[in-house]
Amino acid sequence: MSNRMRRRYASRPVGPAPKPSSQAVSRSMKANRSSGTKPELVLAKLLRKKLARHNLPGSPDFVYPRAKLAVFVHGDFWHRCPVCDLPLPRTHREFWRRKFARNVERDRLNQKELEGMGWRVLVVWEHEVMDDAKASARRIRDLLLV
Ligand SMILES: [Zn+2]
Repeated sequence: MSNRMRRRYASRPVGPAPKPSSQAVSRSMKANRSSGTKPELVLAKLLRKKLARHNLPGSPDFVYPRAKLAVFVHGDFWHRCPVCDLPLPRTHREFWRRKFARNVERDRLNQKELEGMGWRVLVVWEHEVMDDAKASARRIRDLLLV
């Protein structure tokens, strides 16, 4: 898919977000506001590294240009972690199904594009960081040595 097509795909509206009516959604939205607990910030602290502001596809959270490693820290809910497999919100299911399908597809395309540019891509899931942030940081550091 060309860049232009991808952008158009990514910007096609799915309609306004319904009010967060399910507990999972409102919990997740609240979690994203309390920035202290965001997994990417937890990792940033452990890695002693600032979050990336690079202009790479998908805006990876951590970028190591010399090692050509791009790291995404994905929220389990919004990026549909296959391990957690969180349930869809009970209401507005069709909206959420389409929105999540697009999130996952966008992630896949960004990863493919990065790999096409010669980058290695590591996805770290929110639950991994919350379970054992040090192990996640170690995984990233190990890839810098390869
Ligand atoms: Zn997960």
